[in-house]
Amino acid sequence: MELDSAQIRFLIVHHTATARIATDFESVKKYHVVVRGWDDIGYHYFIGADGYVQKGRADDVVGAHCRADGMNQRSLGICVVGHFDFEAAGMEQLTSLTLLLRALLLRHQIPVENVLGHGEVVGSETSCPGEALLRWLHFFRKERL
Ligand SMILES: [Zn+2]
Repeated sequence: MELDSAQIRFLIVHHTATARIATDFESVKKYHVVVRGWDDIGYHYFIGADGYVQKGRADDVVGAHCRADGMNQRSLGICVVGHFDFEAAGMEQLTSLTLLLRALLLRHQIPVENVLGHGEVVGSETSCPGEALLRWLHFFRKERL
C-alpha cells in the first residue's frame, strides 16, 4: 500500500522492549517476516544500540507499527533498540533520533507536536517506547530540539 508525503502527518516512536545489546535490525526484521508473516520489517527507520540508523520500509510504503487511530496510514514508524522502561537510551541513539526526527519533520512538513510515542496515540494500550524515552519525547517537543 502506498503512502504519499501529504498523508504522512505523524512520526511515531517505538522501542524494541528488549535488551539493547541483544537486538539488531536483522533480528527484528526476521521476527516480523518469519513470525508475523509480514513482507518486511514493520518500521520505516531503526536506530541500533550504537546509534546507527538503518532504513526499514520506504517512506512511501504503509508501515506496520501502530494500528491505533489509523496511524499506519498516516505516519512513519521509528524504532529505537532498547527497553526504556528499564534503561535510558544511549547518547548516540538520542543524537541519531534528534537528527532523524528533525530531517523527517522538515521533509514532510510535520509540526513537532505530531511526534508521538506509540503509547500516546489515542486508543493504543502500550507503554512503548518506555518511560525514559517518553520523557525525552516530551522534552523534544517542548524545547523543539
Ligand atoms: Zn511501539
